[in-house]
Amino acid sequence: MSVELEPSDSTIKLKVVSYAPCKNESHWGSSCNCEKEVLETREDYRTNLCTAGWAGFVQANILNTAANPNIKDTGGTSRSLSANTAVSALTLIAGTGTAAASVADNALTTATAGASGNTTSLTISTATETGTSGSFTIVGTITNTSGGNINYAEVGLTITAATFVFLITHDVFTALTVSNNGTLQVTYTMTNS
Ligand SMILES: [Zn+2]
Repeated sequence: MSVELEPSDSTIKLKVVSYAPCKNESHWGSSCNCEKEVLETREDYRTNLCTAGWAGFVQANILNTAANPNIKDTGGTSRSLSANTAVSALTLIAGTGTAAASVADNALTTATAGASGNTTSLTISTATETGTSGSFTIVGTITNTSGGNINYAEVGLTITAATFVFLITHDVFTALTVSNNGTLQVTYTMTNS
C-alpha cells in the first residue's frame, strides 16, 4: 500500500513583523520585554518555502531513511545524510537579498552578517491538535545592532548536523526596514492536517 502526501496536508505560514526600537533608550543593546511599536507586517506570502534540505531531513529523521539525493550545506557542498542524524542549533537567519526563493536554495542570497543576521533564541510552542488539524509555531526575534538601517527581505531556518549547516526554509518578502536597535520578529506556523 502506498501513502501519498497531498501538498495541502502540511503547510508552513510565515509572518514577519518589524518593530521600532524600545522607547526606553537604556534598554538598547539588551533584549527587553517592553511593548514595541509595530512598524510593518508581511504575511500570507505564497512561497512559505521548505527547501530540498527540509525534504532530506524529513527522509532521514522522520522516515528513518538516508536522504536521497544528498543535500547541500550552506557552503554549497553536497553532503550525505544518514537516517536518524543528530541535529542541533536551530537558528533563524535573515538577509537583504531579493531574489526569488527556490527549493534548491542552500543559503540566503545575501545573509546579514553578525548578530543582526541571526538568533538561536527560538520559541517552539506546544502543538495543538484538534479534529483533523494540528499546528505549532516557531518564533524568533532578531535585533538590528549594526548601527544603521537594515532592509530585511529574506529569512530562513538552519539546523546543524555533523558540523554542517543546512538551510531548511527560505522565504523572500517585500523589504522591511529595521532601524538600529529595532527588531524583526519572525513567526512560522507549521500545520499538519
Ligand atoms: Zn525595553
